[in-house]
Amino acid sequence: MKLEPAKTILQKSAHGERWFGIDYNMNLYRGCPHGCIYCDSRSACYRVDNFDTVRGKRDALAILERELRARRQPGIVGLGAMSDTYNPFEERHGITRKALELLDARGFGVSLETKSDLITRDADILAGMRAGVILKFTVTTADDDLAKIIEPRASLSSARFRAMKTLSDAGLFTGTLLTPILPFITDTAGNIRQIIRLSRENGARFIWSMGGVTLRDNQRDYFYNQLDSHFPGLRARYVSTFGNRYFCRAPDRRLATIFKEECEHNGLLYKMPDIIRAYKRPPSLPAQGEIPFEY
Ligand code: SF4
Repeated sequence: MKLEPAKTILQKSAHGERWFGIDYNMNLYRGCPHGCIYCDSRSACYRVDNFDTVRGKRDALAILERELRARRQPGIVGLGAMSDTYNPFEERHGITRKALELLDARGFGVSLETKSDLITRDADILAGMRAGVILKFTVTTADDDLAKIIEPRASLSSARFRAMKTLSDAGLFTGTLLTPILPFITDTAGNIRQIIRLSRENGARFIWSMGGVTLRDNQRDYFYNQLDSHFPGLRARYVSTFGNRYFCRAPDRRLATIFKEECEHNGLLYKMPDIIRAYKRPPSLPAQGEIPFEY
């Protein structure tokens, strides 16, 4: 794995109340290998070149350790937003695993999103963390064959649900990010009902959805090129329906009602404040002498 220089690992988050109550953001890798056709992290504003090639960050753990030590108050660290931290290099190098140990040693919690079943490897550490832990599996389709097209190198949706069961059986607070919803591809009542049912059956406590997909600049170009390859004719439908709109909401407005009713019927939390209240514990600093190791 190639390593790139990094000045910082931990960034303060300004949008915690809108995104699972996170206080910080952290990305241990640059780029992501999963190849999701709709990936927002391809957008030019993030300035990640060669996005499909994963690179590590030089001295990531030492930088993280230094930054955690400098924070007076622990908080929840968001992980996996710009790059799925459970990639094939992680299997070999265990950077995420070591970072989780560091977070716990300093009294921090984690809000982690992934499309990889590799996360089950770290069930022991996650289950032992003293601050809040919330684990989110992104699932956009219940159909494994469709998942192979729209998320070609991620774990299959069925494998993500199996991983969810493993982690929820271990007592961890898990749930589903049903997002994005791709208009004219995954925006069917059947798909939404099935994802909600499978989430409940596999131990999810919550499910969250934004009801559409965001598209901008080169990310839109990439997405449309993939539509041309896999869904001929759909580009024109997107262009005529959404133009250059950033947020492309699934046109069938009944889906929002179906989503809400199904979540309530299955006993799943779906409103952000409720989800945050259900998992987040007040931050606590570890007692003196409790920090077992340093990088
Ligand atoms: S897993 Fe996330 S970061 Fe990786 S390609 Fe898919 S959407 Fe992008």
